[in-house]
Amino acid sequence: MPFSNFPKMPQLFIIPTPIGNLEDVTLRALRILKEVDVVIAEDTRTSGFLLKHFGIEKKILPHHKFNERSTVNTIIDQLKAGKKIALLSDAGTPGISDPGELLIKACTEQNIPVECLPGATALIPALVISGFATSSFVFEGFLPRKKGRQAKLKELSKENRTILLYESPHRIKKTIEQSAHYFGNERRACICRELTKLHEEVLRGSLGELKEICKKRKLKGEMVVVIEGKG
Ligand code: SAM
Repeated sequence: MPFSNFPKMPQLFIIPTPIGNLEDVTLRALRILKEVDVVIAEDTRTSGFLLKHFGIEKKILPHHKFNERSTVNTIIDQLKAGKKIALLSDAGTPGISDPGELLIKACTEQNIPVECLPGATALIPALVISGFATSSFVFEGFLPRKKGRQAKLKELSKENRTILLYESPHRIKKTIEQSAHYFGNERRACICRELTKLHEEVLRGSLGELKEICKKRKLKGEMVVVIEGKG
């Protein structure tokens, strides 16, 4: 029998939080954060500061990649006992390259209603601002660091859809160099850096040109790489 949330009230709320600009929190996110019994968060300190900023006092329990397997069952027990719980990650939408997937899967398997609020995430503004096709795209999150990295890039080089990658400042140079190798220097791409923040910057060009920029400048901050599809 297919299961639907309706008309049950959600018990687990997935709450996106700003990726830089605090004004990007939604009114509904703030209301739900005030209403829930417990907040679980990737980093209790980071989320503590955020809640404090908005004048919300709440018990925050840790739910991160190192304890998510062991804490899922306890959280499920609390949800079954009728507690309303909000899940936060450090920034953006939980479950998107952040903890959340395991818990949400467990809830869906046990018919516990979950609701994900729409809100901040880095990938959608990067896709839209890239100027590349938005009708169809592929989000790969972080590339594998070592094993499978080159095979993944080779596979993506044949992709017709717009490609989105999350990247850190430590690996951006390597990622752009390797992408230029597999996709070709001519393929158009952009690096969306520090979105919504004071030093937001979108670097556009061919992969060859972006490779030169990465040689000359040490790019800092958080970034999304968007590569035009093969077309
Ligand atoms: N859950 C988040 C989301 O919904 O976008 C993603 C979390 S993931 C651990 C962090 C990565 O997201 C960063 O390495 C970067 O690739 C991207 N990111 C987060 N904030 C960003 C920002 N303000 N500008 C550009 N990229 C950002």
